[in-house]
Formats: sequence, C-alpha cells, structure tokens
Amino acid sequence: MPWLPEIEILKKKLKKKFTGKKLTNIEFYKDSIYYPQVKLLENELANRYILNITRKGKYLIISLEGGNNLVLNLKITGFLRYFSEKLLINNYTPMILNVDNGYLCLQNLSLRYVRSIPTIQLRNHPIFKDLGIDPLSDEYNIDKFYKITKKRKGILKLNLLDPTYVTGLGNYYVDEILFLAKLHPKREISKLNRLEIESLYSSINRVLNESIDVGGSSREGFCYHDGSKGRFQNNFNVYDRQGKPCPLCRRNINRIIVGGRGTYHCENCQK
Ligand SMILES: [Zn+2]
Repeated sequence: MPWLPEIEILKKKLKKKFTGKKLTNIEFYKDSIYYPQVKLLENELANRYILNITRKGKYLIISLEGGNNLVLNLKITGFLRYFSEKLLINNYTPMILNVDNGYLCLQNLSLRYVRSIPTIQLRNHPIFKDLGIDPLSDEYNIDKFYKITKKRKGILKLNLLDPTYVTGLGNYYVDEILFLAKLHPKREISKLNRLEIESLYSSINRVLNESIDVGGSSREGFCYHDGSKGRFQNNFNVYDRQGKPCPLCRRNINRIIVGGRGTYHCENCQK
C-alpha cells in the first residue's frame, strides 16, 4: 500500500529513469470503454517527450512536452511495473505506457484515477483542492502546522488519517508517529498544547524520513516499478507488535480499535 514515503521514492526513481524519454503510445485494456477520458489521454499525451515527473500529495504528475500532464493516484492498491519487453498483460493491467526504453504497466487500479491535466490548470485543479499539508514539502513548517492543528477537532489518530489535514499517512505510519511523539492515539486533538504539537510535527517528519532512508515500506506487497521493495516494515516500534516489549519502557505494546482501525501503542509512554 503506497503512502507518502513510497510515492516520494517512486517519483524520484521514475524521474531518474524516464525524464527525457519519449512516451510513444498509450495502450488501454480492461474496461477502458467505460472511461471516456482514455481517448483524451491518448490524444493529449502520446508521442511526446517526458519533461519531468513530480508529485502533489499522493498524485504522481508526469509532465509532457506540449503542456499536458499524466496525473495518477495509485490509491491503496495500485502500482507501476516496468518491463523492457511487454510481458505483463492481464486482468489487472488497465494501461500500458510505451516509452522508448520499455513498457510501464499500471496495475490494479481503475482508469478513473488516471487523468490528463493541462499544466495551466495544475495549480488550482479541483482534484487537489482538499489536499492537506504535505509533510515532505517546503510548505511543511511548525508555524503552519501549529495553525492548522489548532483548527482541528476530534480524536488525534483519526485526524492524522484524514488526508485533508496531513496528506498521505496510512495506519501504520500514524501509529509509529504517535509513539515517537508520546501521544495517546485517542487524545482529543484540540486539547494538545504547543509542546505536544511541536512533538507531533517533528515525529511526522522523523518517521517519514526514516522510512525513506530504508526505501519506504512494502507492507502488503507494495513494490516499485523495478520490482524493488522497502524495509521500513521491519523497523516498526509499535505497529503489529501487540504483546511485545515497548522499545522505551519494556512494557507490553497494546492493541486497541480506534475508529475501526487496529491501533498499536504503549499505554505507559503515550499520554
Ligand atoms: Zn513504553
């Protein structure tokens, strides 16, 4: 399941491999007749050079010459695989990008999450309007984070899972962040004081960057376009460690349900 660190790593890898290459053709499979935008994708994007590959929240943006962009959100199931020969056409492959150095196959994702958006509309496009703060971007600073956090209400963990507050954090990232910040997942967010918000801010930063340092997480089988996997799932302090000792105080890690989500934490360390 790709979250913000995995999409950031994927973006960097794709950028390195495909910038300057030509997107010669786009082929659609599986249910493409239900998606009227596929013709548009072909007309506006095919047979053009790839100028850059960037990211906005969890959206990957492949910018092409001529002023259009292929924008896709891998959601929770999607991934891309690269092959030098066309090997992997099956029911789970709705689209193949033929690039002049091989084939980039989209897997396990509905075509409705693939769009062509002109560069001039990119900045204010409606699909980005509800994106929360991006903790891997330059806009992420403590003053801004403090300000948006003070406007929030409700259970802390559920807020962190809400992409309109902070974009791209999955369940296990949130549990790891709350452990580092020493905050209980069920805390009321509006009751956090300045120090606690600062701790949350730096813990988000630290967990995401620690994950990026080890190649992201491949929990639930996520892999990059070249088949490589991350190792962050081996470094969890609390997630999926029910009954095992807390790395700080050695008491047992607890599992509770918060908003329907399995939640791992240390009752002793997280207040
Ligand atoms: Zn503890």
